[in-house]
Amino acid sequence: MMDISENIRNIIERVDKSAKKSKRSKDDITIVAVSKTVNAESVVQAAKAGMKDFGENRVQEFLKKREEIGDEVNWHIIGPLQRNKVKFILDGVTLLHSLDRLSLAEEIEKQCEKLRTNLDVLVQVNIAKEPTKSGVFEEDLEKFLESLSVLRNVRVKGLMAIPPYSLDPDGNRKYFARMRVLYDTFKNFSDGFEYLSMGMSGDFEAAIKEGANIIRIGTAVFGARSY
Ligand SMILES: *Cc1c(COP(=O)(O)O)cnc(C)c1O
Repeated sequence: MMDISENIRNIIERVDKSAKKSKRSKDDITIVAVSKTVNAESVVQAAKAGMKDFGENRVQEFLKKREEIGDEVNWHIIGPLQRNKVKFILDGVTLLHSLDRLSLAEEIEKQCEKLRTNLDVLVQVNIAKEPTKSGVFEEDLEKFLESLSVLRNVRVKGLMAIPPYSLDPDGNRKYFARMRVLYDTFKNFSDGFEYLSMGMSGDFEAAIKEGANIIRIGTAVFGARSY
């Protein structure tokens, strides 16, 4: 039997333990419950158990769930975003984790201009240079950030990474450590550059030890996804 609130209690306890090892507390770490493919009922259950932040990777699904659930919770977009979808997410998204190219940033800037708003974003880094993953390479990061600095409505709040899938909870530690170095390097890049989003169900403890302050947890909250 899968019990979402039990899962969440368990995760929070593990987050707290790992945080303490790096002299932080669980309150310094935002848990984004990744609700992709999960129904609204389960999201509400997770919210009742204390989750405030939810991550979606498809705009259509996000819009539908947001309509059902509303804005009592914070919505994060964590997956690749097409330019023609930007206008649908601007008013409802707390943080876009997956800014990976200039053309997307420019579209965000343009749409924000129209709506007189702005968007908080993380730059996605393809830290293991996987051909199947999006994100900028670390050697291109400085240039990319520079090109974003002229876009007034695109507010860069930090970095995000999805290292390779690994069965070993510590298998991605070197990538997490590398992300931490990049994060420290660019910390003064912009106001509120303060988030390092990394770590998923299988490896969030290692990510926290290396400095993650946002973790994205799907399976460990909601159980295995069926698709
Ligand atoms: C699906 C997904 C997650 C959550 O993965 P789990 O292993 O289920 O915790 C985290 N981040 C991104 C970008 C995802 O697409």
